[in-house]
Amino acid sequence: MVVYKAPYDEYEFLFHEVFDVLDLAKRLGHEDLDRDFIRMVMEGWGNYCTEVLLPLNEVGDREGLVFESGEVTMPSGFVDAWKEGVEAGWFATTCRPEHGGMALPQFVRNGVDEIAISANMSLSVVPALGLGVYELVTNHGVQELIDHYGEYLANGHWCGTMCLTEPHAGTDLGIIRTKAVPQDDGSYRVTGTKIFITAGEHDLSENIVHMVLAKTPGAPEGTKGISLFIVPKLLPKDWKSGSVEGLSRELSDARNGVTCSGIEEKMGLHASPTCVLNFDDSVGWLVGELNSGMSLMFEMMNRERLATGMMGLGLGEIAYQNALAWARERRQGRDLKGIRDPSQAADNILVHPDVRRMLLTAKVNNEGCRALGVWVGTLLDQLHSDEDETRERAEALIALLTPVVKAHFTDLGCETTSTCMQVMGGAGYCSEYGVEQFYRDVRISKIWEGTNGIQALDLAGRKITQDLGRNLRYLMWPLAEFIEENRDIPEMAEFNKPLHKGVRGLQQLTLLMISQGMGNPHFLAAGATDYCRYFGNIMLAYMWARMARVCLEHPDSDFHQAKLASARVFFSRIYPETISLGANIQAGHKDLMNYPEAMM
Ligand SMILES: Cc1cc2nc3c(=O)[nH]c(=O)nc-3n(C[C@H](O)[C@H](O)[C@H](O)COP(=O)(O)OP(=O)(O)OC[C@H]3O[C@@H](n4cnc5c(N)ncnc54)[C@H](O)[C@@H]3O)c2cc1C
Repeated sequence: MVVYKAPYDEYEFLFHEVFDVLDLAKRLGHEDLDRDFIRMVMEGWGNYCTEVLLPLNEVGDREGLVFESGEVTMPSGFVDAWKEGVEAGWFATTCRPEHGGMALPQFVRNGVDEIAISANMSLSVVPALGLGVYELVTNHGVQELIDHYGEYLANGHWCGTMCLTEPHAGTDLGIIRTKAVPQDDGSYRVTGTKIFITAGEHDLSENIVHMVLAKTPGAPEGTKGISLFIVPKLLPKDWKSGSVEGLSRELSDARNGVTCSGIEEKMGLHASPTCVLNFDDSVGWLVGELNSGMSLMFEMMNRERLATGMMGLGLGEIAYQNALAWARERRQGRDLKGIRDPSQAADNILVHPDVRRMLLTAKVNNEGCRALGVWVGTLLDQLHSDEDETRERAEALIALLTPVVKAHFTDLGCETTSTCMQVMGGAGYCSEYGVEQFYRDVRISKIWEGTNGIQALDLAGRKITQDLGRNLRYLMWPLAEFIEENRDIPEMAEFNKPLHKGVRGLQQLTLLMISQGMGNPHFLAAGATDYCRYFGNIMLAYMWARMARVCLEHPDSDFHQAKLASARVFFSRIYPETISLGANIQAGHKDLMNYPEAMM
């Protein structure tokens, strides 16, 4: 029953008309990349998602996982689908050629991430984790580890996990208890319990490579004493001592002390095993420097946070498409201005302003997030530029935008799936139509990879003040330049003026947050979530104004005129929430913190 069409044309518009990705790609050394090739890769990978993964999405939700004797069996069809992806090489596209990848730019990957999530979020988080582990190992592991794990992690032959959370330590990782004891041969023995580990155990791949945060004996207190270890489920067959030299990819039959003692029953993502993992004297190897585990894991987490943002978009998009398809067919009531279709007993529900409000809010938020996702993808690529200034700018903007993308996209994803369910009335609540699954599946995206509350604190408490406001300066320059360039274009006034006003508001609210927050951290923390949402709105306003600028040049194109109409919906019906967000921030912390706790 579920319908879905991958948004290739939307990506073409963003890639080539709004962001000129080919010019960027050439500057970054991707000389051979052209428009047709990008489209071909997206469609090839996208077809795998829509033809192989999407039909399994409902199966996975209905069948769920089987846990027996420490092993997890994936739902019907998942293992074959995974093998197909590995053999086609889809998971390795952005990885290095020496590991079987195509070294494709990240902006392409971000686009396909959206499509993969729309198709099947449970399965699509697995390659996202694998890619994160691949990047950690290849960027920070010793050559022997890269040789042993690089290729198989890249192509999905082996899967990966990130093991941070413990029963008593979720947000507060400084208090983890997992221990890693150094051995004479250079390896470590890792012991501890990790919970909520996504894809911690399953039958998709022969081996699972865990990236584990642990503390070595005598390490400093808190997050400063955390190190990162690579701990495989299965050790290489020829491994005898701690040395990582010359390891073969043939695996030992015996487990490396890593056992799964259970999987969680969850609201959604029924085909994604969320595991309790026990590490018992498991052999592990240090990745990076001792005690640098948190900053290394943050590299992976930041990548996953951006990918999590795309989850909000992916599920928001498929929910929108299904709600729209349903609304096109559904007939209830009459247009308030008179009968539209006298041949039928009732008009189509698209005649009702409230139904249009819901659908267009969903559509416009999705399209705005997609544009920002592409921009962030191009920034990720610029991290590899030869030019110092380009790299520095990209680093600053990514630092600033990561919590915004993670929190705003996933907040919107949850709102959008809920709104789309509403569009469908009772049918939306019933499993047959798919949207209730999207609503349940997307909900975790606000929680994992650091809750959205923590993202907001990261933005307001750290990212805006970091390096004396350097990150924000890098954002304000292009914003101010854009506003100035469009100041005298009359057709742009309806977009440019509110953008300008909102940016001024952002500057004032930022000063307020910093000045009040220095004296009273509760003020800053009480306003952080509203500030992050305000920030998200400004970013989407910037994206919509940029898109509008392009579309004004195409008065005869339906596609471009529809985009202009979307921009108008954004500025007239969504963006004004910045006014109430500003008021919330200014209200400060007192009414929250003075409320008598016993009466809560
Ligand atoms: C399905 C699923 C999959 C997961 N996958 C993984 C995985 O693969 N690997 C992994 O390591 N973990 C994983 N997690 C764990 C996930 O990242 C954590 O649940 C999340 O980080 C929140 O931690 P917590 O649940 O302990 O909540 P808590 O830390 O107990 O937080 C509870 C509430 O308090 C707030 N809060 C806590 N501290 C602060 C603070 N200092 N300031 C303001 N507010 C605060 C939070 O925002 C939240 O609203 C997964 C969880 C789930 C449910």
